[in-house]
Amino acid sequence: MGTRREFVQKITASAVGLPILFNSTNLFADSGSFYDGPVLRVAIMGLGSYGTRVAEAMQSCKRAKLVGLISGTPAKITKWKAKYNVPDKNCYNYENFDRIKDNPDIDAVYVITPNGLHCEFTKRVALAGKHVICEKPMGINAREGQEMVDACKAANVKLLIGYRMHFEAKTLEIVQMSRAGEFGKIIFFQGQSGFIIGDPNQWRLNKKLSGGGAMMDIGIYSINGARYMIGEEPIWVTAQETKNDPVKFKEGIDETIQFQLGFPGGAVASCLSTYAVNHLDRFYLAGIDGWAEMQPSTGYGPIKARTHKGELTDPHITHQTVQMDEMAGIILENKEPFIPVDGEEGVKDMKIIDAIYNAVKTGKKVDLTRT
Ligand code: NAD
Repeated sequence: MGTRREFVQKITASAVGLPILFNSTNLFADSGSFYDGPVLRVAIMGLGSYGTRVAEAMQSCKRAKLVGLISGTPAKITKWKAKYNVPDKNCYNYENFDRIKDNPDIDAVYVITPNGLHCEFTKRVALAGKHVICEKPMGINAREGQEMVDACKAANVKLLIGYRMHFEAKTLEIVQMSRAGEFGKIIFFQGQSGFIIGDPNQWRLNKKLSGGGAMMDIGIYSINGARYMIGEEPIWVTAQETKNDPVKFKEGIDETIQFQLGFPGGAVASCLSTYAVNHLDRFYLAGIDGWAEMQPSTGYGPIKARTHKGELTDPHITHQTVQMDEMAGIILENKEPFIPVDGEEGVKDMKIIDAIYNAVKTGKKVDLTRT
């Protein structure tokens, strides 16, 4: 067994709280009763569609447990409380959740509300002295992201962004190959991220709540992917926008943006972010000596990936289960993830998004080394 495979198994095993030495084929069968270490007690804020997915996935966590709820809808609290056995004293609404500071039974709050509310809610959670896990995009621009980082630092709490792909086994295997030089000098990355968005009245198409369109929601996967697959920070951005439906996609809500990122080592990323094409979820990385292709690359999985050496076969584990177990290790035991998920990592993506919007507006190449 090669070192790369051992590395991925180690990450995956630790993610489900298993001893390091295991056979990947019995991952689920053996995930029973080994773990008796510290557990991160989490309150979910925003009981919507992704919050529901995270709550379900957390039922299989070893190191993280859903213990609290924050919602503006009393009927949801009633339903979730019964389903997940959450005590009344751990349930809050958006007006009173600052009182969480007096609750010793909650360690962290996972903010899963519309993007435009992330900054305000993160700052309030930090002031209440609780760690924050916040969904992507971390805010609606880099200024908000930096405010969130500063607030969490000042309150001495951790801020992590919900980048679930940073813990996904096939992603990690390819990133490890890239870092080990198995593709040679990286020349090109292609990221395609998109889906056709439905209901025109949803918050994702409301600038105040979303901060933008497809780029904020799905294009960010290509930005983030370009950075971890290439392993460098981009130094320039160019971008072009097209809009086929200006009624549905109003001013400030991008439907389709093509963008290019230039990296200091000479690699270029060429990416597409769109709300106008379904099932667009593909990464391609090309180096002088090899290549990697992932399709789907960032969906809920299973992820499919192959390289010039063949198909990757790492087992699929529910992304949010792995993510929450790993984030518990980061918060409670100061573990270092292989690909960062801290607030500063989120700000890097937000700066690139700001630059992409700027490049679309001005038609000019934006220098990222000055932001
Ligand atoms: P959603 O609309 O299904 O849920 C949003 C929740 O926020 C709802 O429960 C809603 O009641 C609540 N909310 C509070 N204040 C609100 C307001 N003023 N307007 C509207 N809703 C309000 O959305 P979602 O799909 O769960 O997305 C929530 C967040 O999670 C977003 O930031 C999104 O980008 C992120 N997300 C991440 C992933 C991922 O894979 N990491 C996937 C989906 C969504």
